[in-house]
Amino acid sequence: MKFGGTSVGTAQRIKDVAKLITERGRNIVVLSAMSGTTNTLEDISDYLYKHNFAGANETLNNLRHKYYDTIAELYSTDEYRNKAKEVIDERMDHIRSFNKEIFTSFDHKEILAQGELMSTAMMNLYLTECGVKSVLLPALDFMRIDKNSEPDTHYIREHLLPMLEKHANAELFITQGFICRNNYGEIDNLQRGGSDYTASLIGAAIKAEVIEIWTDIDGMHNNDPRYVEKTSPVSELHFEEAAELAYFGAKILHPTCVLPAKVNNIPVRLLNTMDPSAQGTLIYNVAPTHTIKAVAAKDNITAIKIKSGRMLLAYGFLRKVFEIFEANCTPIDMVVTSEVGVSVTVDSERNLEKIVDELKKFGTVTVDRDMVIICVVGDLEWKNRGFEAEVVNAIRDIPVRMISYGGSNYNISLLVRKEDKVRTLNLLSERLFN
Ligand code: ADP
Ligand code: ASP
Ligand code: MG
Repeated sequence: MKFGGTSVGTAQRIKDVAKLITERGRNIVVLSAMSGTTNTLEDISDYLYKHNFAGANETLNNLRHKYYDTIAELYSTDEYRNKAKEVIDERMDHIRSFNKEIFTSFDHKEILAQGELMSTAMMNLYLTECGVKSVLLPALDFMRIDKNSEPDTHYIREHLLPMLEKHANAELFITQGFICRNNYGEIDNLQRGGSDYTASLIGAAIKAEVIEIWTDIDGMHNNDPRYVEKTSPVSELHFEEAAELAYFGAKILHPTCVLPAKVNNIPVRLLNTMDPSAQGTLIYNVAPTHTIKAVAAKDNITAIKIKSGRMLLAYGFLRKVFEIFEANCTPIDMVVTSEVGVSVTVDSERNLEKIVDELKKFGTVTVDRDMVIICVVGDLEWKNRGFEAEVVNAIRDIPVRMISYGGSNYNISLLVRKEDKVRTLNLLSERLFN
């Protein structure tokens, strides 16, 4: 069971989660940092990097007060309030110890890890105060990524299982989402939003019956509720559909989190901490049936077009183009080709200048910035009739830069301008779901 930042964002929420997890039996519970904490730790790191120690201290003091207030409300005895304060003070002092001449990326990652260390320690103390036999599993002792930043599933399993065996009497296990160690044993993380990934990696390691992602909404909605008003939860999704949606911007799920569940065939449930009886979304390997299920959007996309007379009848042209992206460590999201050119999209401009420079050897290069991928997901198997027409019809007044269909049985992707994003999402909802 994984609970996100808002689910543990206040003393009351922590109490609610504690009640929920104690009622549901012996589980491994993964917690994020309290909401806002990781962003604040980012701010503090930024001040430290810029040698603004006063800024770092002030931000840290504000954070400490937030935790003190939570502690005052959460625990009912001074004994536990003092224990919790001791933990928080220790973490805060540790962060403060980075006030030094050189601030490295390792220091940054260590600071980011403090949020999950604090939330889990507080929950564990609260459960103990309530008389629950809860055990804190230090994620830094079993969660590990390899030299390619991929999870080391063998290591995770080999280190997690003995910990569980050691605590045969435990009623509940609490552990940190997001944080891990890398190949060199340094503190690292699974990227922002990565607590979902922790949960599915643990689920896979212990061959769990189900992986539950508890958040602040009643499951995966059929469109992004931040931009579209009348969205509703989707009751079932295939692993592939969920993966497409997560990758293309449905923030409720971290993109990488589907794979370990899919590989081990473990169902994932998206559930609402604020409304635990709501049905939510079940993600598993059921084939989707004759419906379009949901729409998502991925921001900050750049489109690159390479037009070349030489592409005509040439083999090996695409390989040369793709090799340039590979050599510059830049993944491609969308691809469309024609007889005279190819357009691709990337979500990072980090090596763009170099890529464009090298692509110019092969043709005329055009770059369109500030684009958005709109991803429509559902049963889009090619023999079904009419679904792609519905999608295109819905957005007939929107200028579309690229369309990609047929790459999988589950999606159509459209590339539009950033300023057309909200309108496109709304038009699709109106036509497809309302
Ligand atoms: P947590 O802190 O629990 O990990 P997140 O903020 O990462 O929660 O994810 C939940 C949020 O995702 C929701 O509050 C919602 O605003 C956003 N979201 C974006 N797209 C969707 C979608 N298609 N369905 C549900 N929620 C979505
Ligand atoms: N606390 C981390 C973040 O804010 C990880 C997570 O919440 O999933 O990104
Ligand atoms: Mg999240």
